[in-house]
Amino acid sequence: ILAVLAQPFLVADEIIYISGSVGITLYPSDASGIEELLKNADQAMYAAKKRGRNCFSYFTSQMQEDAQQRMHLIRDMRDALANSQFQLYFQPIVERASGRIVKAESLIRWQHPERGLISPAQFIPVAEEIGLIRDIGDWVFREAARWMCNWHQRQVSCVQVGVNQSPLQFVPGVGKAWLDHLRDIDLPPETIVIEITEGLLLDERPDVRETLLQFRDAGIQVAIDDFGTGYSAMAYLKKFHIDYLKIDQSFVRDLATDPNDLALSEAIIVMAHKLGLKVIAEGVETLEQRDMLAEAGCDYLQGYLYARPMPAEEFDELLNSEQLLKG
Ligand code: C2E
Ligand code: CA
Ligand code: CA
Repeated sequence: ILAVLAQPFLVADEIIYISGSVGITLYPSDASGIEELLKNADQAMYAAKKRGRNCFSYFTSQMQEDAQQRMHLIRDMRDALANSQFQLYFQPIVERASGRIVKAESLIRWQHPERGLISPAQFIPVAEEIGLIRDIGDWVFREAARWMCNWHQRQVSCVQVGVNQSPLQFVPGVGKAWLDHLRDIDLPPETIVIEITEGLLLDERPDVRETLLQFRDAGIQVAIDDFGTGYSAMAYLKKFHIDYLKIDQSFVRDLATDPNDLALSEAIIVMAHKLGLKVIAEGVETLEQRDMLAEAGCDYLQGYLYARPMPAEEFDELLNSEQLLKG
């Protein structure tokens, strides 16, 4: 079937190329009813599409388990906000020159009553697919702002908090709602850094543009997360007044062993500084990595070497003790 589909079709003087994705399920070993067989074949077809299309895939019981897991995850996630199962963790970001904790990144955690702690890498993509990311994102923003307000009033060393934002959260009204909220709680917008990915700058939806410019005008700062892994649009870094680049963990990980990663990190830092941006390195785990990044002129460091993400109360205590982190 795939070979036949792969041949060019002549349609109204035009040559058209198509490909197929085939899902296969077996009777009677996989299922005995027509409906279930079709459902299996459908799941297997999606697996074939995921593998890059133009191929076939057999149904497996693992696919069924994955689909069921997903369904349960979706069902439980809908109640998680109402049942206060989300928690906001904070990970310190250290200023290289002084060694002080001057910022923190907020990272969501889901404390599931039966499954325990679920990682955002698992549930955020699903929340994006089912449209729940906006409610979750609003909760994250308010919670991060609430803690930041506390630290701002006490004038502790941490002067900024980072909030991760999915592209799907850029919808009409979100910018205004967030800025209104900051005004209500009397928190200067400069204390918030929105973390977005490179691709968003190329997104042509007017809402994205408007919201980014709204943040810029209000003084909310913007960081490009995972910098270097996507399509970089250098011209847009200035246009949207981006404040920080976060060097992706994958470059930091092999800094000591892969000369390419060192060259890339150095190039990112030089370019950022020429454009007037500051650089944060993520995933710093060893003293060696820290030294190489310091040597390259990196402004801020974040990673397990300093501290893992921790519950807000714990981070609050760390700030109270004003202790310098090792490293
Ligand atoms: P990210 O924004 O790139 O966050 C950094 C991730 O690296 C975090 O994983 C953090 O725990 C981890 N990390 C920090 N230091 C180190 C280190 O030294 N070594 C290693 N190996 N890892 C380190 P986490 O918390 O599991 O979050 C995963 C991703 O989930 C985040 O990646 C972000 O894309 C997303 N995410 C987390 N919280 C939120 C949120 O509130 N909203 C949205 N939209 N996405 C979120
Ligand atoms: Ca981030
Ligand atoms: Ca990142």
